[in-house]
Amino acid sequence: MMFAAPRAVILSCLALTQIAVASTLPELLLESRQSTSTSASAEAETLRGTSAYNLVCALIARRVSSASLVHYPGESPTADGSPVFDWLLSHWSSASNQVSACVVEPGTPADVGKILEIIGKTRTPFAVQSGGHGTNPGFSSTKGIHISLNSFRSVNYNRATRTVEFGTGLKWEEVYAAIERYGVSVLGGRVTGVGVGGVTLGGGYAWKTNQYGLTCDSVTAFELVKPNGEVVKVTQQSDSQLFFGLKGASNNFGIVTKITMKALPQGQVWGGMINYMDPASIEAVSVATSKFANQVKDPKAAILSTFSYYQGSPLVGVQLFYDAPQPPAGVFDDFLSIPAVQTNVSTQSFLSLVQSAPANATYGLRSYFDGVPVASYSPQFLNKVKDLTITFGNQLASKSLVFMTLVAEPFLPTILSHNPARTAYPFTRSKVYSPFNILFTWADPSQDAVFEQAIRDMKEQLYAALLAEGQSDIVNAPLYPNYALWDTPVQKVYGSNLPALKLVKSRVDPSNVMGLAGGFKIISR
Ligand SMILES: Cc1cc2nc3c(=O)[nH]c(=O)nc-3n(C[C@H](O)[C@H](O)[C@H](O)COP(=O)(O)OP(=O)(O)OC[C@H]3O[C@@H](n4cnc5c(N)ncnc54)[C@H](O)[C@@H]3O)c2cc1C
Repeated sequence: MMFAAPRAVILSCLALTQIAVASTLPELLLESRQSTSTSASAEAETLRGTSAYNLVCALIARRVSSASLVHYPGESPTADGSPVFDWLLSHWSSASNQVSACVVEPGTPADVGKILEIIGKTRTPFAVQSGGHGTNPGFSSTKGIHISLNSFRSVNYNRATRTVEFGTGLKWEEVYAAIERYGVSVLGGRVTGVGVGGVTLGGGYAWKTNQYGLTCDSVTAFELVKPNGEVVKVTQQSDSQLFFGLKGASNNFGIVTKITMKALPQGQVWGGMINYMDPASIEAVSVATSKFANQVKDPKAAILSTFSYYQGSPLVGVQLFYDAPQPPAGVFDDFLSIPAVQTNVSTQSFLSLVQSAPANATYGLRSYFDGVPVASYSPQFLNKVKDLTITFGNQLASKSLVFMTLVAEPFLPTILSHNPARTAYPFTRSKVYSPFNILFTWADPSQDAVFEQAIRDMKEQLYAALLAEGQSDIVNAPLYPNYALWDTPVQKVYGSNLPALKLVKSRVDPSNVMGLAGGFKIISR
């Protein structure tokens, strides 16, 4: 009976529909939550549902400063065309979209702190979105409170420290564009549209990873809003364990509002995309990709070989990158000599190369990612990859399949030596596994379960092909969290780092506020 009074308050609150009207009820709701700490799970249930979430939205709207905005469904566009509700919660893959009770667009880290405090006290489900390229439903979407980092958009280059500081509402190409004039770049996404937040906090593979390491390796500081609302600067010196955790364990420890990264010298680059369609060319690309992966040791060179299914036929595209105006002879000759159907390779700025990839062609369709770790690439494996795109493509063509790609992303075995310090991802630095990306894109939401099963089957087949080649150690290799399907066990992602991550979790987020947001969750006990 001890909880009778607070529950009555909550229930009477739930009866109200016009909660945006100025009222003291949201505060009562919060007070009721604060006074019933032992009934967390029962009352968390009470708080689920749109009406309860609306109360929390109203409370947030009353507590944050004028720098922050709260958007509601149905909100009409502002006169100046400012982004509103639907735009703020949209994702590259519409399968990741959910309609939340409100979208909160904090304008200051202090306001993020107030929002997290309210969310924690009311135990309200929430989401944090940076670039919205997460393909796991619920990882950056919710029916509760959607926090959009859209307003954190500053970019500052510090010539003295050779670092760049940027807000987590930005996409990588916006950062590249802002610092291009200084002759520098940072280790970020390889195509347009991808958010700086998700990539950095998940690990991150960049065009210049062979030269400098993972995206997270390049971070010198995070501005973090901790789950208790406190705003802190996290560096190796200030808190080495939290710094380690933020490099790969995503949203487990709070909300990052600003990232400081090493500035890397950047001049003109050489590269672009070549597409191949005829069977002999595709077979030759498999051989060339394997040869590149195993023999090219020049760290300025990188490729992505993409095996696709396009209207009943295989289509293979190779993105080439060289971090200088011209590559030395021999590095890419094999790819350049194979008969192609289309090419846009040229000397250009780094920004222009990133912008040239057609990454947004499928924006708004439904997509899932998954991945397998690869120790080495053989032509046989890549031919199997090509065959699988045809088998699966033919099966899925009638299920609204739009696009399917299997992407070989070979990296040098030295990429983890650039930063010897531990990071949450990958959990071992003793051997490098390249991430191999599986992407299925379709149109019809009623086919979601079909594509989910297909991506699982595809992954199984790829594992089987690699194991048949003797790559048995891939079974225990770290899985890149930014490619892994949503129910991948956290043990597979964080492996031997889990005990250390749990310690950080119990210190930084003892009441598991960040557990109210989706993602691969570290549970401290
Ligand atoms: C077209 C495309 C291209 C890609 N290219 C690359 C690539 O070149 N290299 C690469 O490594 N990966 C790449 N990826 C994968 C990419 O790393 C993930 O999709 C990543 O999650 C995207 O980050 P985001 O901020 O856009 O996503 P979001 O969906 O906004 O966020 C993803 C996750 O990170 C959390 N998160 C985001 N920002 C914050 C923050 N500031 N604080 C706390 N938590 C946060 C979210 O809560 C969510 O769980 C690509 C993906 C796509 C779809």
